[in-house]
Amino acid sequence: MKAAVLENLEKMVVKQVGTPTIEKEEILVRVRSCAVCGSDIRIYHQGNPRVKPPQIIGHEIAGEIVEVGEKIENFKVGDRVAIGADVPCGVCKFCKNGLGNNCSINYAIGYQFPGGFAEYISLNETTVKYGPLHKIPYGLSFDEASLAEPLACCLNGYELANLRIGDTVVIIGAGPIGLMLVELAKNMGVGKIILSQRSKERLEIAKKFSAHVFISSLEENFRQRVMEETQGEGADVVMVACANPCAQQEALEIVGHRGRVNFFGGLPPGSARIKIDSNFIHYKECFVLGSHGSVPRQHKIALDLLSRGIIKGKDFITHHFGLDEIGQAFKTAEEHQGLKVIVNP
Ligand SMILES: [Zn+2]
Ligand SMILES: [Zn+2]
Repeated sequence: MKAAVLENLEKMVVKQVGTPTIEKEEILVRVRSCAVCGSDIRIYHQGNPRVKPPQIIGHEIAGEIVEVGEKIENFKVGDRVAIGADVPCGVCKFCKNGLGNNCSINYAIGYQFPGGFAEYISLNETTVKYGPLHKIPYGLSFDEASLAEPLACCLNGYELANLRIGDTVVIIGAGPIGLMLVELAKNMGVGKIILSQRSKERLEIAKKFSAHVFISSLEENFRQRVMEETQGEGADVVMVACANPCAQQEALEIVGHRGRVNFFGGLPPGSARIKIDSNFIHYKECFVLGSHGSVPRQHKIALDLLSRGIIKGKDFITHHFGLDEIGQAFKTAEEHQGLKVIVNP
């Protein structure tokens, strides 16, 4: 089969490799769509302790089952499936309690397990048993179904931030994740959605989504504007959906009393440490938390939200590339030329 193999840092080679063979408890999937994630780009440039090259990366996947092992009962050849990233080990305390993304092994597709930038992906026994692997509802395209993975991460972020009906939420970062957070917030009955983004170009793209207030932090005083928009009270929830230490610090300044700040975006290794004025937390009685990845339950919900058009996947997809053009796909995603970039192997 043809695959994009990450052979070393910043060296991804599209080449012929052996098509995976499967065991009794495994499934072989013909990949139809694999979306490029910000974390794929980080792995490409900086590596990741859980990715040992040569490896095929990519974890926002949808495809069609072409072979099942003889012990497989719940899936059959021809099933269309969406595959997410974090695979629970199934045996540790966290995985047994439905918190597989907190597993100390933290198996993931496109990390320890081969990913979706290839014509075929084999799903091992752990993945088949514990997920995230779900049948795609009728009528939902492969491209849209691949977005269930990032959308599941957004669901996880809001569950942890305890977003409530009527809240004011500030989302920092208008990338695909920030905009999925906007659309989810709308559907969750949030009172006011404030979206902030540095560059004006990206903010222009964002205007077709459902935020009530758009702030370009390059052109306006972000902190002051949020305070005006919240009658001086600050936000109930602040989602930092970008990899920027300054944004994390600002989040603490604009959150209100009893508010929740979620450091949703991870910082690249070597980033500046943030300085926290802990008195913000002390006097506001606010909550500072983080979230990363998702669990299979959320991947299933995300797939349902996409299939029912509650979250319109098509609105997020701006580019398509073949596997041979994966370099171009990464470049397009990295330069923020659009929103979601899909590779169709
Ligand atoms: Zn992702
Ligand atoms: Zn585990």
